[in-house]
Order: sequence, then structure tokens, then C-alpha cells
Amino acid sequence: MTLALSGHAIESGIAVGQAHIIQRNELEIHEYRIEPAGIEAEVRRLDKAFAAARKHLESLADQMGNSAGTTAEEIIRTHVMMLSDAAITDLSRERIRSKQCNAEWALQLQLGDLLVEFRQIDDPYIASRADDAVQVVRMVQQFLTAESSTEPLGLIPERLAQTVVVASELTPGELAVLRERGIAGVVTEHGSTYSHTAILARSLGIPTVMGVRRGQTLIKEGEQLVLDGHYGIVFADPEESILKHYLLKQAESERFLQSLEAVRDRPTTSLDGKRIRLMANAERPNDLQRARSDGALGVGLYRSEFLFLQGNPPGEEEQFEAYLSALQALEGGPLVIRTLDIGADKGVDLLDFKNLRSNPNPALGLRAVRLCLRELELFKSQLRAILRTSAFGDVRCLIPMLTSVREVLAVKSLLDETREELAGEGLKYNPGMRLGGMIEVPAAALAIRELSPHLDFLSIGTNDLIQYALATDRVDESVAHLYDPQHPGVIQLLLWIFKAAEEADIPLAVCGELAGDRRYTRLLLALGLREFSMQPRNLLEVKQVILETDIVRARSALQEWLQSGGNDPESSLVNFLDNSQIDR
Ligand code: PEP
Ligand code: MG
Repeated sequence: MTLALSGHAIESGIAVGQAHIIQRNELEIHEYRIEPAGIEAEVRRLDKAFAAARKHLESLADQMGNSAGTTAEEIIRTHVMMLSDAAITDLSRERIRSKQCNAEWALQLQLGDLLVEFRQIDDPYIASRADDAVQVVRMVQQFLTAESSTEPLGLIPERLAQTVVVASELTPGELAVLRERGIAGVVTEHGSTYSHTAILARSLGIPTVMGVRRGQTLIKEGEQLVLDGHYGIVFADPEESILKHYLLKQAESERFLQSLEAVRDRPTTSLDGKRIRLMANAERPNDLQRARSDGALGVGLYRSEFLFLQGNPPGEEEQFEAYLSALQALEGGPLVIRTLDIGADKGVDLLDFKNLRSNPNPALGLRAVRLCLRELELFKSQLRAILRTSAFGDVRCLIPMLTSVREVLAVKSLLDETREELAGEGLKYNPGMRLGGMIEVPAAALAIRELSPHLDFLSIGTNDLIQYALATDRVDESVAHLYDPQHPGVIQLLLWIFKAAEEADIPLAVCGELAGDRRYTRLLLALGLREFSMQPRNLLEVKQVILETDIVRARSALQEWLQSGGNDPESSLVNFLDNSQIDR
């Protein structure tokens, strides 16, 4: 009889296979006292475990084979670095000495303190760093305990094709090894959307459902599983009709993925011959690799705040190095660096702006350029780093959350001041570096004519533009159903933006999620978009739609829809535009 279990949808895709359950005895960490004469020996025992854990991670990295160069490599590197971090090593040694306790317990105490610190930071990215700390400490504890000789993955069959692994939880390194062994999918009892293992599952494209409560108890070893990563459902021992349905869907999605390969090397040109520029959004070094391999011309949105969310705020030098290495990965650009967009849902705690969190409406508060124009020292160090990078290639600077001309002028005068300082110090920069503004506040959209003379390009941030236009918080689940990109008000706003930008003769891109969502590609083309910037993983899908779109037809379908008042009860606007392409 079919058993249906649900969890968090992590990576879409369908997996059909036999369940293989990975049992892992939860470690029980006990405290015991160490006599003063044995303290230094206990410290050495801990150091030996650190070394063994490091060796284990390095060998995992070796086993990763094809996965190398993906996020896995980066995560394993993070874990190796954590193994040398004084917050874990020195302070645990200290605890053995001060508490006269065993190494396992010293680590446990130290982990507890670290987690308290992490918990004070209400940010999903930082929370995933806490997962890293837990994983690293657990591994060292494993090497300290008697079971340490049994490596967690030691019992897993070498080839796991057609197998869906069911685990309590997995470390990113373990997931990378499982992928090498050919697993079809992953089910875990624990884990969240922002954990590193989840990020890795997405970047490796392994259908994954996490947070399946009691999955290891309810699923039996060897039974057939169907995993639907799109909806976060797992069927154990599925009845014939379910299995048939999913096998068909699986074949369909494989055909779809194969069809994407066919577009990889083709120029991005619409059916009626218009050239379209595809750019990537990037936060991390690996986004750049995927962006290059999937044909992005450059980076249209480098979310610089992610550098600030990884620990202590970086200084000018560290930012300069990060931007320069992104520029080098792109072989000279273009690289559009967005200045800090911190505030609202993005980690204000880190920068000592804790008071911002208590604002009644953080999304309407001191965020992005508003915050930067108040925290001038912080902002200047970023402008210096961006300008210095501009000496090495096609670097452009993008201001988020612009509302008024006054803000643009304030940023420009800071840029002038910064240029003078750099020149005085003999540091190079590109005096003609282009400055762009994000259009994501409805008032800025309506004021494009006033803003454009002061800017070199515009980029629409649809994520925020839609939330502000519809007064619908983009992170509030209770109003998620109201967040509608096809709302007539949103469409009118977009029409206005494209018309105003054309009249002002200023280049316009879209870098919000809509640009990477193939359902909206034809709408954006019909509106007049010629430059899309999106998550690298969506590049080929969107390109495929572009190649199959006659823009002239899409445009006249849009006009038809607007003239009819958009009241077709049978169809949504995007379906109407899709239908306009049929019967060629
Ligand atoms: C947007 O708002 O569409 C955007 C690209 O910026 P972010 O999602 O980082 O706010
Ligand atoms: Mg935004």
C-alpha cells in the first residue's frame, strides 16, 4: 500500500529507486574528568582527532572527482578551514585545561557557545554556518570515539544507481560522495532550504526532499520509492498508477533537460532575429563558473552584500580582492557590482545596526542606498573597492532601492570625492565607470524621466518592485498568494518603465527572479526587454524560450490583450502570449 510522506522541496526532479537507509548512531557525548597529569595527553588526543578529521575531509575532496569545482569543493574547504579556526581549536584546548574534562566534552561545550552566538543572528545564510560548525565538531567527536574507525559512508555500496538514499541528515561532503556513486535521489529527516547540503543538492541537481519526519522509521530498506522533488513528496511502495505517472513525468523531464543541451552553443537570437543579452546574477564564486559554462555574457547583478553576510564585514582590501577575482573569472567582465543592499530581510545584525530590526516596517525602512548614505564610512570603503576594480576591466556600479534624484546625486558626489582621493594616492580606476540604478521602488519607476539623465543604465528589480507595487511582503508566507507578477497594476507599471526608458534612451535590464523564470520570458520580450540577468541555472531554459519566440507576434499579442482589457477568462496573460506563438 502506498505511503505518502511530505517534507521540504529542495531540488525539483523525480527520482524512482530502491530505498537505501543510512543508519548513523547519534553520538552520545559524555563528560568525564581528566587528572591534572593527563591534561596535556588529552590535548594531544584532541589534536590527533583534528588531524584525522582534516585528512578525512581531504580524502573526501579527492573522491569527489567530477563534483570538484562545484559548491561541494567550497563547502569542504570551509570545513577544513573551520578545523583550523581558533574558535574551535584553541578554545576547545583551553576548555580541556580549564575544566579538566575530556576532549569530546570540551568540544561539546565550545560548540554550545558558538551556537548561541549564531542563534543571535537571524539570517538563514548565517544559520547555515551554524550547521557547518555542528558538522565539523561532530566529525571530530566521531574520531575521538570508539566508532571513529567506521567511516560514516563506509557501508554504502559502491554504485548506487537507482537508489534513493534515506538518511537522518547528510553533510555536504557525504552528499558529494553519494553523487559520485550515482544515487538517484535523497530523503533526509532533517535539514532546511538554506542549509549547505540543500544548496549543494541544488547545485548538483540531485532530486531531494528534506525534513521528512520519521522517514528512516517509516521507509523500509529496499522498498520502492518515488520522490517528487518539486512538491517535496515521497511515495513508499507506490501503487502502479502513481509509479506509471511518475515514470512518464521523469521521461518528460529528461527529454526537457536533453533539449536544453541543444541550445547551449547557439547564439541567443529570437525567431525573428533579435539579439538578446543573457547575463548572470552572482553571489558566490561558483555562480561565476556556471554562468560562464552556460553562456552568460557577464554578471548583471553581483549581490555584494553576500560578502558581508559571511562573517565580519570585509574591509576595502578584502572587497577589492573579491571583486577582482570575480572580474578575472569573467575574463574582464562585464561585472555589474551592486552596492550594499542590507536591511529589511538581509542581515542587519552583522553590521551592528541591530536597532533596524525593531523597525515596524523594515522593508520600508533604512535599507540599501538609504543605509549607505547614512553609514558613509562603510559606503566609501565599498566605492573605493569598486572603483579600484574598475581599472582592470568592464566594471559597472549599480545602486539598489533608489527612490529619488537626490540619492543619485549624493552617490555621484561621493564617487567624485572617492576618485579624487584615489588619484591623490596614486591608485588607478576607470574614470568613465558606468553608474546604474535599480528600479524597484514604484516611485522611482514613475520618475524614470527625472532619474535617467543622471544615470548610465537601469536594471529592474522585479522582486522588490512587485512587493512594493502590491504592498505584499515578499518574505511573508501568509500573503504569498497575493504576490502576482501578472497583476494588471504590475503590468501597467512595467509598460510604463519600458516606455519611459526607451524615450530616455537609457539601457534597461531586468535582474529580479522574473528574468530567470521561463514562464515570463515572452512577456518580458514583448515588453521590450533585451537584457536578462538571472540565476545561472536558469540560463539555458530561458534561452530556449527566446529561440522559440517571435517577438513581433508576442508584442502584438500583448497589445491585443491590453486592448481587450485583459479579461479573457480562459487564459492568463502569459498563456495568451504563449498561444500567440502557435501555428507558425
Ligand atoms: C530585486 O529586488 O528584484 C533584486 C534583484 O534584488 P534583491 O532580490 O536582492 O532584493
Ligand atoms: Mg531588490
